[in-house]
Amino acid sequence: MKVFCDQDRQGQHNPSGFLVNGVMQPNPETPERLDRLLAGVAAGGHEVHAPEDHGLSPIAAIHSPAYLKFLSTVYERWSRIPDAAPEIFPNVHPDKRTASYPLSAVAQAGFHITDMSCPIGAYTWEAARWSANCAVSAAQAVLDGDRMAYALCRPPGHHCFSDLAGGFCYLNNSAIAAQLMRRIHDRVVIIDVDLHHGNGTQGIFYERDDVFTLSIHADPARFYPFFWGHAHETGEGAGLGYNLNIPLPRGTGDEGFLKGLREGLVQVEQFAPGAIVIALGLDAYEGDPFGGLSVSTPGFAEIARMLAALDLPTVIVQEGGYLCDALGDNLHAFLQGFETASA
Ligand code: ZN
Repeated sequence: MKVFCDQDRQGQHNPSGFLVNGVMQPNPETPERLDRLLAGVAAGGHEVHAPEDHGLSPIAAIHSPAYLKFLSTVYERWSRIPDAAPEIFPNVHPDKRTASYPLSAVAQAGFHITDMSCPIGAYTWEAARWSANCAVSAAQAVLDGDRMAYALCRPPGHHCFSDLAGGFCYLNNSAIAAQLMRRIHDRVVIIDVDLHHGNGTQGIFYERDDVFTLSIHADPARFYPFFWGHAHETGEGAGLGYNLNIPLPRGTGDEGFLKGLREGLVQVEQFAPGAIVIALGLDAYEGDPFGGLSVSTPGFAEIARMLAALDLPTVIVQEGGYLCDALGDNLHAFLQGFETASA
Protein backbone atom coordinates (compact mmCIF):
# COMPACT_ATOMS: atom_id res chain seq x y z
CA MET A 1 0.00 0.00 0.00
CA LYS A 2 1.04 3.61 -0.46
CA VAL A 3 2.69 5.20 2.55
CA PHE A 4 2.99 8.97 3.07
CA CYS A 5 5.76 10.53 5.16
CA ASP A 6 8.06 13.55 5.04
CA GLN A 7 10.71 12.55 7.52
CA ASP A 8 12.74 15.76 7.24
CA ARG A 9 9.89 18.17 7.89
CA GLN A 10 8.03 16.01 10.41
CA GLY A 11 11.25 15.20 12.23
CA GLN A 12 12.14 18.81 12.99
CA HIS A 13 9.62 19.03 15.82
CA ASN A 14 11.54 17.79 18.84
CA PRO A 15 9.69 18.57 22.08
CA SER A 16 11.95 18.59 25.13
CA GLY A 17 9.73 17.50 27.96
CA PHE A 18 6.39 16.68 29.44
CA LEU A 19 5.16 16.79 32.99
CA VAL A 20 4.48 13.43 34.68
CA ASN A 21 3.18 13.44 38.23
CA GLY A 22 4.68 16.90 38.62
CA VAL A 23 8.11 15.89 37.31
CA MET A 24 9.47 17.14 33.97
CA GLN A 25 10.46 14.04 31.99
CA PRO A 26 11.91 13.63 28.47
CA ASN A 27 9.07 13.85 25.94
CA PRO A 28 8.47 10.36 24.45
CA GLU A 29 7.01 11.75 21.19
CA THR A 30 10.47 11.92 19.64
CA PRO A 31 11.63 12.21 16.01
CA GLU A 32 13.17 8.74 16.43
CA ARG A 33 9.65 7.31 16.28
CA LEU A 34 9.78 8.11 12.55
CA ASP A 35 12.91 5.97 12.10
CA ARG A 36 11.35 3.03 13.90
CA LEU A 37 8.02 3.29 12.09
CA LEU A 38 9.74 3.70 8.70
CA ALA A 39 11.72 0.53 9.46
CA GLY A 40 8.38 -1.23 9.92
CA VAL A 41 7.20 0.17 6.58
CA ALA A 42 10.42 -0.98 4.87
CA ALA A 43 10.03 -4.50 6.30
CA GLY A 44 6.76 -4.77 4.38
CA GLY A 45 8.24 -3.35 1.18
CA HIS A 46 5.63 -0.58 0.98
CA GLU A 47 6.37 2.40 -1.27
CA VAL A 48 6.95 5.65 0.63
CA HIS A 49 5.68 8.82 -1.05
CA ALA A 50 6.34 12.42 -0.05
CA PRO A 51 3.02 14.08 0.79
CA GLU A 52 1.91 17.01 -1.34
CA ASP A 53 1.22 20.40 0.18
CA HIS A 54 -2.58 20.53 0.24
CA GLY A 55 -2.68 23.97 1.85
CA LEU A 56 -4.80 24.98 4.80
CA SER A 57 -8.30 24.24 3.54
CA PRO A 58 -8.52 20.54 4.57
CA ILE A 59 -7.09 21.50 7.98
CA ALA A 60 -9.46 24.47 8.32
CA ALA A 61 -12.39 22.12 7.68
CA ILE A 62 -11.68 20.73 11.19
CA HIS A 63 -9.82 23.42 13.13
CA SER A 64 -11.05 26.90 14.08
CA PRO A 65 -9.57 30.05 12.49
CA ALA A 66 -8.44 31.36 15.89
CA TYR A 67 -6.63 28.10 16.68
CA LEU A 68 -4.85 27.97 13.32
CA LYS A 69 -3.79 31.60 13.67
CA PHE A 70 -2.49 30.77 17.15
CA LEU A 71 -0.54 27.69 16.03
CA SER A 72 1.00 29.40 13.02
CA THR A 73 2.02 32.65 14.76
CA VAL A 74 2.47 32.04 18.47
CA TYR A 75 6.09 30.90 18.42
CA GLU A 76 7.30 34.11 16.83
CA ARG A 77 5.24 36.23 19.24
CA TRP A 78 6.37 34.19 22.25
CA SER A 79 10.01 34.55 21.20
CA ARG A 80 9.76 38.33 21.57
CA ILE A 81 9.00 37.99 25.30
CA PRO A 82 12.20 38.79 27.25
CA ASP A 83 13.76 35.66 28.79
CA ALA A 84 11.01 33.38 27.44
CA ALA A 85 11.83 29.67 27.29
CA PRO A 86 12.73 28.14 23.90
CA GLU A 87 9.43 26.23 23.94
CA ILE A 88 5.92 27.31 24.82
CA PHE A 89 4.28 25.64 27.82
CA PRO A 90 0.97 26.95 29.19
CA ASN A 91 0.82 28.29 32.73
CA VAL A 92 -2.68 29.78 33.01
CA HIS A 93 -6.05 28.43 31.84
CA PRO A 94 -9.60 29.81 31.64
CA ASP A 95 -12.32 27.84 33.44
CA LYS A 96 -14.14 27.44 30.12
CA ARG A 97 -13.23 28.09 26.51
CA THR A 98 -16.23 30.42 26.24
CA ALA A 99 -14.27 32.97 28.31
CA SER A 100 -12.94 36.13 26.65
CA TYR A 101 -10.29 35.42 24.02
CA PRO A 102 -6.94 36.88 25.11
CA LEU A 103 -4.40 38.85 23.08
CA SER A 104 -1.17 37.76 24.76
CA ALA A 105 0.85 34.75 23.59
CA VAL A 106 1.05 33.46 27.18
CA ALA A 107 -2.69 33.61 27.65
CA GLN A 108 -3.45 32.14 24.22
CA ALA A 109 -1.17 29.20 25.08
CA GLY A 110 -3.33 28.59 28.15
CA PHE A 111 -6.50 28.95 26.09
CA HIS A 112 -5.42 26.49 23.35
CA ILE A 113 -3.22 23.93 25.15
CA THR A 114 -4.91 21.54 27.54
CA ASP A 115 -1.93 19.86 29.22
CA MET A 116 1.84 19.89 29.72
CA SER A 117 2.68 17.27 27.10
CA CYS A 118 2.72 19.37 23.95
CA PRO A 119 5.19 22.22 24.01
CA ILE A 120 5.34 24.39 20.90
CA GLY A 121 8.83 25.00 19.51
CA ALA A 122 10.26 26.70 16.43
CA TYR A 123 9.33 23.82 14.09
CA THR A 124 6.11 22.54 15.65
CA TRP A 125 3.69 24.24 13.26
CA GLU A 126 5.63 23.14 10.20
CA ALA A 127 5.89 19.52 11.41
CA ALA A 128 2.20 19.39 12.38
CA ARG A 129 1.20 20.84 9.02
CA TRP A 130 3.22 18.21 7.13
CA SER A 131 1.90 15.47 9.38
CA ALA A 132 -1.60 16.61 8.37
CA ASN A 133 -0.47 16.70 4.72
CA CYS A 134 0.33 12.97 5.07
CA ALA A 135 -3.24 12.29 6.23
CA VAL A 136 -4.68 14.39 3.40
CA SER A 137 -2.46 12.68 0.80
CA ALA A 138 -3.45 9.21 2.05
CA ALA A 139 -7.14 10.15 2.05
CA GLN A 140 -6.75 11.57 -1.46
CA ALA A 141 -5.13 8.32 -2.67
CA VAL A 142 -8.13 6.37 -1.34
CA LEU A 143 -10.59 8.87 -2.84
CA ASP A 144 -8.75 8.39 -6.13
CA GLY A 145 -9.32 4.64 -6.02
CA ASP A 146 -6.69 2.98 -3.82
CA ARG A 147 -8.33 0.47 -1.50
CA MET A 148 -6.08 1.52 1.40
CA ALA A 149 -3.27 3.93 2.26
CA TYR A 150 -1.17 4.63 5.33
CA ALA A 151 -0.32 8.11 6.62
CA LEU A 152 2.77 8.05 8.83
CA CYS A 153 1.60 11.04 10.84
CA ARG A 154 3.97 12.41 13.42
CA PRO A 155 3.24 14.42 15.51
CA PRO A 156 0.04 12.44 16.15
CA GLY A 157 -3.44 13.98 16.28
CA HIS A 158 -6.26 12.23 18.10
CA HIS A 159 -6.02 14.21 21.38
CA CYS A 160 -6.42 17.48 19.49
CA PHE A 161 -9.87 19.14 19.45
CA SER A 162 -10.95 21.76 16.95
CA ASP A 163 -9.24 24.52 18.97
CA LEU A 164 -7.24 22.68 21.61
CA ALA A 165 -3.84 20.95 21.51
CA GLY A 166 -3.14 18.15 23.99
CA GLY A 167 -1.38 14.81 24.49
CA PHE A 168 1.47 15.40 21.97
CA CYS A 169 -1.16 16.40 19.33
CA TYR A 170 -1.52 19.71 17.45
CA LEU A 171 -3.72 18.94 14.42
CA ASN A 172 -6.23 16.09 14.33
CA ASN A 173 -4.99 14.09 11.34
CA SER A 174 -7.62 11.33 11.63
CA ALA A 175 -10.44 13.86 11.75
CA ILE A 176 -8.98 15.73 8.76
CA ALA A 177 -8.83 12.45 6.80
CA ALA A 178 -12.40 11.51 7.77
CA GLN A 179 -13.74 14.91 6.72
CA LEU A 180 -12.07 14.47 3.31
CA MET A 181 -13.62 11.02 2.89
CA ARG A 182 -17.01 12.66 3.42
CA ARG A 183 -16.59 14.24 -0.03
CA ILE A 184 -17.80 11.02 -1.63
CA HIS A 185 -19.06 8.95 1.30
CA ASP A 186 -22.23 9.93 3.20
CA ARG A 187 -21.10 8.07 6.30
CA VAL A 188 -17.54 7.59 7.53
CA VAL A 189 -16.35 5.76 10.65
CA ILE A 190 -13.20 6.49 12.65
CA ILE A 191 -11.98 3.45 14.55
CA ASP A 192 -9.39 4.42 17.16
CA VAL A 193 -7.33 1.52 18.54
CA ASP A 194 -4.72 3.65 20.35
CA LEU A 195 -4.04 2.85 24.02
CA HIS A 196 -5.52 6.24 24.92
CA HIS A 197 -9.03 7.47 24.22
CA GLY A 198 -9.29 9.65 21.10
CA ASN A 199 -10.81 12.56 23.00
CA GLY A 200 -10.14 15.23 20.40
CA THR A 201 -11.70 13.15 17.65
CA GLN A 202 -14.72 12.46 19.83
CA GLY A 203 -15.07 16.16 20.62
CA ILE A 204 -14.87 17.21 16.97
CA PHE A 205 -17.66 14.87 15.82
CA TYR A 206 -19.68 14.66 19.05
CA GLU A 207 -22.78 16.36 17.64
CA ARG A 208 -22.62 14.83 14.16
CA ASP A 209 -24.36 11.76 12.77
CA ASP A 210 -22.31 11.48 9.56
CA VAL A 211 -19.03 10.47 11.22
CA PHE A 212 -19.29 7.62 13.72
CA THR A 213 -16.45 7.60 16.25
CA LEU A 214 -15.41 4.36 17.97
CA SER A 215 -12.53 4.29 20.44
CA ILE A 216 -11.23 1.26 22.33
CA HIS A 217 -8.70 2.14 25.02
CA ALA A 218 -7.48 1.78 28.60
CA ASP A 219 -10.21 2.81 31.06
CA PRO A 220 -9.80 6.58 31.62
CA ALA A 221 -11.07 6.36 35.20
CA ARG A 222 -7.40 6.35 36.26
CA PHE A 223 -5.64 6.91 32.94
CA TYR A 224 -5.04 9.74 30.45
CA PRO A 225 -7.14 11.52 29.13
CA PHE A 226 -9.23 11.06 32.32
CA PHE A 227 -12.07 13.46 31.49
CA TRP A 228 -13.17 11.70 28.30
CA GLY A 229 -13.47 8.13 27.03
CA HIS A 230 -16.10 6.75 29.39
CA ALA A 231 -18.80 4.39 28.17
CA HIS A 232 -21.62 6.83 28.97
CA GLU A 233 -20.31 9.37 26.41
CA THR A 234 -22.46 8.50 23.41
CA GLY A 235 -22.80 11.80 21.53
CA GLU A 236 -25.11 14.79 21.77
CA GLY A 237 -27.90 16.31 19.69
CA ALA A 238 -27.85 14.89 16.17
CA GLY A 239 -24.73 12.94 17.20
CA LEU A 240 -26.46 11.01 19.98
CA GLY A 241 -25.72 7.34 19.43
CA TYR A 242 -22.84 8.02 17.03
CA ASN A 243 -19.98 7.88 19.54
CA LEU A 244 -18.94 4.59 21.10
CA ASN A 245 -16.32 4.21 23.81
CA ILE A 246 -15.01 0.83 24.86
CA PRO A 247 -12.87 1.27 27.98
CA LEU A 248 -10.81 -1.79 28.89
CA PRO A 249 -9.29 -2.68 32.27
CA ARG A 250 -5.55 -1.93 32.54
CA GLY A 251 -3.47 -4.88 31.38
CA THR A 252 -6.08 -6.28 28.97
CA GLY A 253 -4.37 -8.51 26.39
CA ASP A 254 -5.20 -9.72 22.88
CA GLU A 255 -8.26 -11.75 23.81
CA GLY A 256 -10.03 -8.99 25.73
CA PHE A 257 -9.04 -6.32 23.21
CA LEU A 258 -10.32 -8.34 20.24
CA LYS A 259 -13.54 -9.22 22.09
CA GLY A 260 -14.21 -5.53 22.84
CA LEU A 261 -13.42 -4.52 19.26
CA ARG A 262 -15.66 -7.27 17.86
CA GLU A 263 -18.56 -5.98 19.96
CA GLY A 264 -17.91 -2.41 18.84
CA LEU A 265 -17.85 -3.39 15.19
CA VAL A 266 -21.43 -4.63 15.45
CA GLN A 267 -22.50 -0.99 15.87
CA VAL A 268 -20.17 0.08 13.06
CA GLU A 269 -21.83 -2.38 10.70
CA GLN A 270 -25.28 -1.07 11.67
CA PHE A 271 -24.06 2.44 10.81
CA ALA A 272 -23.13 1.13 7.32
CA PRO A 273 -20.19 3.46 6.59
CA GLY A 274 -18.80 3.95 3.10
CA ALA A 275 -15.21 4.36 4.30
CA ILE A 276 -13.01 3.87 7.37
CA VAL A 277 -10.29 5.88 9.02
CA ILE A 278 -8.22 3.80 11.42
CA ALA A 279 -6.53 5.84 14.15
CA LEU A 280 -3.64 3.44 14.56
CA GLY A 281 -1.97 3.81 17.92
CA LEU A 282 0.54 1.07 18.66
CA ASP A 283 0.90 1.96 22.35
CA ALA A 284 -1.58 -0.73 23.44
CA TYR A 285 1.47 -3.00 22.98
CA GLU A 286 2.53 -5.02 26.03
CA GLY A 287 6.07 -3.57 25.84
CA ASP A 288 5.15 0.09 25.21
CA PRO A 289 6.62 2.50 27.78
CA PHE A 290 3.09 3.64 28.73
CA GLY A 291 2.29 0.11 29.90
CA GLY A 292 -1.51 0.45 29.82
CA LEU A 293 -2.67 -2.59 27.87
CA SER A 294 -1.02 -5.88 26.85
CA VAL A 295 -1.62 -6.39 23.13
CA SER A 296 1.07 -8.58 21.50
CA THR A 297 2.73 -8.18 18.09
CA PRO A 298 0.58 -10.98 16.55
CA GLY A 299 -2.36 -9.27 18.28
CA PHE A 300 -1.91 -6.21 16.05
CA ALA A 301 -2.11 -8.46 12.97
CA GLU A 302 -5.37 -9.89 14.36
CA ILE A 303 -6.79 -6.40 14.96
CA ALA A 304 -5.86 -5.50 11.37
CA ARG A 305 -7.57 -8.62 9.99
CA MET A 306 -10.72 -7.84 11.94
CA LEU A 307 -10.79 -4.28 10.53
CA ALA A 308 -9.95 -5.43 6.99
CA ALA A 309 -12.95 -7.78 7.15
CA LEU A 310 -15.20 -4.70 7.04
CA ASP A 311 -14.07 -4.62 3.41
CA LEU A 312 -14.23 -0.86 2.89
CA PRO A 313 -11.89 1.84 1.52
CA THR A 314 -9.55 2.58 4.42
CA VAL A 315 -7.19 5.35 5.44
CA ILE A 316 -4.78 4.26 8.17
CA VAL A 317 -3.47 7.19 10.23
CA GLN A 318 -0.60 6.81 12.69
CA GLU A 319 -1.35 7.96 16.24
CA GLY A 320 0.66 6.87 19.32
CA GLY A 321 3.19 4.09 19.91
CA TYR A 322 6.46 4.91 21.61
CA LEU A 323 10.07 3.79 21.56
CA CYS A 324 10.46 0.11 22.28
CA ASP A 325 12.18 -2.70 20.39
CA ALA A 326 8.99 -3.90 18.70
CA LEU A 327 7.56 -0.55 17.51
CA GLY A 328 8.49 -1.17 13.87
CA ASP A 329 7.50 -4.86 14.08
CA ASN A 330 4.08 -3.90 15.41
CA LEU A 331 3.47 -1.53 12.51
CA HIS A 332 4.71 -4.17 10.07
CA ALA A 333 2.38 -6.77 11.66
CA PHE A 334 -0.60 -4.43 11.36
CA LEU A 335 0.02 -3.32 7.76
CA GLN A 336 0.76 -6.89 6.60
CA GLY A 337 -2.26 -8.26 8.44
CA PHE A 338 -4.47 -5.63 6.84
CA GLU A 339 -3.10 -6.01 3.34
CA THR A 340 -3.15 -9.80 3.40
CA ALA A 341 -6.71 -9.95 4.69
CA SER A 342 -7.83 -7.43 2.04
CA ALA A 343 -6.27 -9.35 -0.87
ZN1 ZN B 1 -1.77 6.86 22.85
